[in-house]
Amino acid sequence: MSTAERLLRDDLRGFAGYASARSLAAQGEVWLNANESARPSSEDPAGACRRYPEPQPFALVARLATLYGVDTSQLMVGRGSDEIIDLLVRAFCPPGSGRIVIAPPVFGMYAVCARLHGADVVEVPLRDSGADFSVDLDAMAEAARATKASLLFVCNPGNPTGESLEVEAISASAARLAGRCLVVVDEAYGEFAEQDSAASLITAHDNVVVLRTLSKAHALAAARVGAVIAQPEVIDLLRRVQAPYPMPAPSVAIALRALRPEALCATRVRVREAREQRGILAHALEALPGVRRVYASQGNYLLVRFEEADAVLARLLDAGIVVRDMRAMRGLDDALRITVGTPAQNRRLLKALGKTAGGAQ
Ligand SMILES: *Cc1c(COP(=O)(O)O)cnc(C)c1O
Repeated sequence: MSTAERLLRDDLRGFAGYASARSLAAQGEVWLNANESARPSSEDPAGACRRYPEPQPFALVARLATLYGVDTSQLMVGRGSDEIIDLLVRAFCPPGSGRIVIAPPVFGMYAVCARLHGADVVEVPLRDSGADFSVDLDAMAEAARATKASLLFVCNPGNPTGESLEVEAISASAARLAGRCLVVVDEAYGEFAEQDSAASLITAHDNVVVLRTLSKAHALAAARVGAVIAQPEVIDLLRRVQAPYPMPAPSVAIALRALRPEALCATRVRVREAREQRGILAHALEALPGVRRVYASQGNYLLVRFEEADAVLARLLDAGIVVRDMRAMRGLDDALRITVGTPAQNRRLLKALGKTAGGAQ
């Protein structure tokens, strides 16, 4: 039995999910099986949206599988990686008694999904050396073992902290947790990072699950397209838990366009710019008085500690610049997260900060 089959909620064994008209559709010319409108909307004369969409649009699955270097049987699409996080929690945590392990400060959705489902969140904080953050994967794996958690989430690169983990370390933890816990690697910012994707681990490890998204590097946050990569047994279980028609046709259409070779080239250009700008911005921020620390980042954002984060935030807002206030997060009570913008936006940010922090201009 695979790790996922072993960890599946007992009450979901034998549960097949909703059998939609679309998934049962066989051959035929006159489709009168799903209570769709017989005629298209006046706003959609070609009828592109008249019928329920394919549950897993094959063209999209195929293109994403190629992009991430896996087989189509190893990938499922969802409404952003947020939906996939929710599906993982729902499939593998018994409501009321399940557990997940996370390393705060980290992306909030893991804990939100767990909480909504009545699952416990076991926290193994990131180590903060003062100079940088690091994930204590050994401690996380130990906590997962000790608490019998079914999911361990690592965000790689880390949001909001920007650190990254080597694939070898993930592989070692996955081996340790084989048969006991799924290691979920959230690579929402993988394109901006130097290290390799953990997707290469899924063949050897039946408990590695990788999340990818078109929301960040591919610039399609509003389309809500994400993917989960894992062994086919995991994918099959998740498909049973997913809603019948998760992927809106207009989202699939734009995703397919954004995954054509020309568009992927343009994406690589944008990613290169973001990485360059990240370096330039980090340097400039470090030189500003009032800045305590700029953490090295493998994402398209920088976590920055300020002497007076309050004043900085207010001044930025005055200048029409919105950054993410991180001060409510544990250990980040002086920190803001700044997304890397265009060169012009970054200059504007620095100008506004120069006035605040230095006070000399
Ligand atoms: C933005 C983000 C996501 C959400 O991705 P969607 O595909 O838009 O749902 C997932 N994980 C992390 C760490 C993120 O920062």
